[in-house]
Amino acid sequence: MERILVSACLLGRPVRYDGGSKLRDDQILVRWQAEGRLVSCCPEIAGGLPVPRPPAELSVYGGAVAVRTEDGTDVTDFFTRGAAATLAVARRHGVKMAVLKEGSPSCGSDRVHDGTFSGRSVPGAGVTTTLLRRNGIRVFNENDLHAAAAYLRELESSDIDSHPEKTRD
Ligand code: SF4
Repeated sequence: MERILVSACLLGRPVRYDGGSKLRDDQILVRWQAEGRLVSCCPEIAGGLPVPRPPAELSVYGGAVAVRTEDGTDVTDFFTRGAAATLAVARRHGVKMAVLKEGSPSCGSDRVHDGTFSGRSVPGAGVTTTLLRRNGIRVFNENDLHAAAAYLRELESSDIDSHPEKTRD
């Protein structure tokens, strides 16, 4: 059975910077959870940041990506450590796909905040998403669960085709 890495906040865990969650009450996630597929992870907690913590956004200076809080504190190291820890968890569980929270400087997959703390977002991906993708893990977000479900079907049918001793369920 394919395991799926999921942002802990989407499962209702209170791990966000403000101590809240972003529970995504969707039938697809509920089904995957009941099937025991989900591997919950919060990269920022895994990187050593507390709850609550100051919000942080990605910023690009001269081509280098950094993560900073609004007062300019550089927290990039926490984010890169969290990304590495999340990749290690994914590898341990043989994960090939993830559903991560859109917009986050760690978990965003299509868009991230633009570094001005003004609520504006720009096309881009978070630190963890980028590392997972570089390592061959397909990352979706919570707005893309039907595409994620289609990809899961594809993964499982190619697994069955290459291991005919397994049966489809
Ligand atoms: Fe959710 Fe990811 Fe932010 Fe953790 S780092 S609170 S899992 S969006």
